[in-house]
Amino acid sequence: MKFGRLGAAGSIELVEQPAPVAGPGEVTVSLAACGVCGTDLEKARGNYRTAGILGHEPVGRIASRGPGVVGLDVGDRVFVHHHVPCYACDVCARGDFTFCPSYSKTNLDPGGFAETFRVPKENVERRAVLPLAPNVDWDSGALLEPAGCALTAIRRVGLPERASVFVLGLGPVGLLYARLVRALGAGWVGGSEVSARRRAAAERGGMPITVDPREEGAVRRAVDTATDGRGVDLAVVATGSPAVARTATEIVRRGGTVNLFGLPEAGSRLDADLQTLYLRGVRVIPTYATTESDLAEVHRRVADGSLVISDLVSDRIPLERIAEAFELAGRPDASVKVVVTGPSA
Ligand SMILES: [Zn+2]
Ligand SMILES: [Zn+2]
Repeated sequence: MKFGRLGAAGSIELVEQPAPVAGPGEVTVSLAACGVCGTDLEKARGNYRTAGILGHEPVGRIASRGPGVVGLDVGDRVFVHHHVPCYACDVCARGDFTFCPSYSKTNLDPGGFAETFRVPKENVERRAVLPLAPNVDWDSGALLEPAGCALTAIRRVGLPERASVFVLGLGPVGLLYARLVRALGAGWVGGSEVSARRRAAAERGGMPITVDPREEGAVRRAVDTATDGRGVDLAVVATGSPAVARTATEIVRRGGTVNLFGLPEAGSRLDADLQTLYLRGVRVIPTYATTESDLAEVHRRVADGSLVISDLVSDRIPLERIAEAFELAGRPDASVKVVVTGPSA
């Protein structure tokens, strides 16, 4: 089978290798689609300090079932979550599941950009294989993981009633975050993004105000106008830029919250006036990844129509052309969300 993986510095290579086999308690899945995530791009650029497995937003059909698997059948349409917490350690006991020390050690074999991948027993047992409702298409399915990350973040930071929210960076995760806070009852949502194409996607999703952050003072002006100069309840940093994180600390209200949501550049520092943060009571809360219960919740919302996301997929590129998919996903003016498609598409 074909499998896309990290090659020499900055390249993505397609290799042939034997398809994995499902052991006891495991399943294999034939790929329909897998989104290219910003973190995949950072791994390809050598900017992410984790093991280099690519592809964690896959949907497909169950191809085979090992002994002892119950409730899943060959041919079922599923989304598969790559990481699962242990539910037994001190961190899990406090409900901080995505920070469980074993969470990011679990993964799909050999990754999400494979014609067929194996889902380990612990992922199957811990409900990381989520059957898709018939009306949830592959495009929406491939967006469940990033949408789940947004929901987990929103729960962690807390969303006040009728909250004012500003999202800095309207890439796929920023756009999903914005749509989700709207669906959850935010009073006002604005955002900034350099790509005109992505600003248009935000406006299509019902965001009234989007600005180009390269325009001097534009973010501040948009926030001041919407909040009578008070600042927003929640500023979401949906990029890795430390300068953008600093801007976020400056546009929240007194007692407001900054959510560090995008993967920060490796080694970057937050350059903010600590006394100002202290005196204004600004909370800075990082969030990471998502949980099975939040994934099930976003799936339910997509299935019942209260969250519409499938239009964010701008390009579908077959696995054979994965390098092209990465190149396109890295050009914000040319794409919104790029998905790689497989044999079950
Ligand atoms: Zn992702
Ligand atoms: Zn744990």
